[in-house]
Amino acid sequence: MESRFHSVALLEEKCKGCTNCIKRCPTEAIRVREGKAVINAARCIDCGECVRTCENHAKIIIANSLEDLRQYDYTIALPAPALYSQLERASGPDEIVWALQEIGFDEVCDVSFGADIVTECTRRHLKSFPELRPVISGACPAVVRLIQVRFPNLLPHVARVESPMYAAARVARAEASGRLGIPDERIGVFFITPCAAKVTAVLAPLGSQKSYVNGAISISDIYGDLITRMGRGGTARTMHRGSSFGFGWANSSGELKALGLNNVLAVDGIHNVLDLLEEVDDGRLAGVDYIEALACPAGCVGGPATVENPFVARARMIKISEAVEADSAQARAEAKQIVDEYGEDFFAIEGELAAVAGLAIDPRLEVAIAKMSELERLLAELPGLDCGACGSPTCRAHAEDVVCGYASEVDCVFKLREAMEEVAEELLKLAKTDLPSLQRRNDR
Ligand code: SF4
Ligand code: SF4
Repeated sequence: MESRFHSVALLEEKCKGCTNCIKRCPTEAIRVREGKAVINAARCIDCGECVRTCENHAKIIIANSLEDLRQYDYTIALPAPALYSQLERASGPDEIVWALQEIGFDEVCDVSFGADIVTECTRRHLKSFPELRPVISGACPAVVRLIQVRFPNLLPHVARVESPMYAAARVARAEASGRLGIPDERIGVFFITPCAAKVTAVLAPLGSQKSYVNGAISISDIYGDLITRMGRGGTARTMHRGSSFGFGWANSSGELKALGLNNVLAVDGIHNVLDLLEEVDDGRLAGVDYIEALACPAGCVGGPATVENPFVARARMIKISEAVEADSAQARAEAKQIVDEYGEDFFAIEGELAAVAGLAIDPRLEVAIAKMSELERLLAELPGLDCGACGSPTCRAHAEDVVCGYASEVDCVFKLREAMEEVAEELLKLAKTDLPSLQRRNDR
C-alpha cells in the first residue's frame, strides 16, 4: 500500500456507510467495509469529490492552521486567485491582502501573479516543443495525479511548467530572502488553498523533490477571520500584484484567456475531465493544441475548501478581474521580466512525473491475465445493476475486489440471495428425506 501523504481523510465516527461517495470517486478508490468508508491510498488523487459529496461531513481536508505561522521568523501568504471570489463584503483584492496581514502574515504574494509567470512560461514551452500535441496544463494537481493513476501514456503531454502556486512561492522566497537577509529555512510560505489537491501538492510535491511552500491553509478555515475584518478600514494602497488575466485563472477557461491561443479546449469537473482524457488517450481528439483541465466545477472557485456557491463566485471573479484591468499591462510586463531574469527552468517541474500503479489488478503479467479472466467470469454472473450495496462502486469493481481477495462473492445481495436459495433447497430436500429408522420400517 502506498505511503504518500493524502490530504483527504475520513472521520470514521461521522461515516454512516451510505455509499454515496464510492459512486462519485473518479478512480474508484473508495469502498464501504463493515459500515465505514475506506480509501485506497494508491488510487486516491485528492480531488476532493468525496468531500463535496458527503452530506455527513465524514470526509475532511487535512491542512495547516494559522498556529503553524509561529514556527517561522517571517511568513508569506500566497492567496489562490479563488480566495478573492469568496468574500462578498470585500471592497476588492487590496482589502483582502490587507486582512491577510492583519491575521498574522508579514507579507502577501498573489498567486495570480504566479499565474502571469506561468502563462509566460507556458507560451515559451509550447514554442519549444511544437511536435507534441495536445499539451495538457499541469496547473491542477488533481488532474495531473489522475493522469499518473489512470492515463500514464499521457504523462509526456503534461506541460513541464510548475503551477502558479509554485511560481509565486519561488519568487516570493527569493525576493524576501534577498531583501531581508533572512535564511531561507526561517521563511514560512503558506498557500491559501481552495482545495485538497493543492494541500497534497504542497506536502507531497508532484515531480519535484523539494517543496517551496511550507504549508497550506484552507480558505474555509480562515474565512471567518477574514470576513470579520471586511469594512474595518482596510487600505487605500494597491497591494495586489497579479494582472486581470492572472486573477482570471480562478475560473474555468481563465488560463486559456490568459494564453490567448487558438485550437484550445477547457474542461472542468473531474468526471468531465475523465471523459475528455479517455478521448485523448484513445487518439479521438484531433486538432487541439492545448487543454486546460480543472478538477472542480467552474474551476478553482468551486474547490472543495471554498465556501461560496461556485457560480456566484465565478460571476464575482469576473468583476474582480475587470476591476484590476488597469494594472494588468504592468503586471504582465513584470512577470515577463522575471521569467527573463530567472529563466524558464526555474519554473519547470523538477524530476519525473511517474506513473502510479494504483489500478493494476496484479503487477505480475501472467497472474493479472488469470485474474482478469476470473473477473470476467464473475462479472457475467452479477446482475449489472451497479447498486453499490456490496460496498464497491460497480459490479465490475466488486468482481475485481473478489478476485483480489478484498471481498466475498456473497457481499452482493443478489449472490447472497442465490446462495440462501440453494441452502433453502438443500434444507427442503433434507426435510423431505425419511429418517433412517423410518426407512428401515418401510423397506420391510
Ligand atoms: S458519503 Fe462516504 S464518507 Fe460520507 S457517510 Fe456516506 S459512505 Fe461515509
Ligand atoms: S480545479 Fe483548482 S481547486 Fe479544484 S482541485 Fe484543481 S487546482 Fe484545486
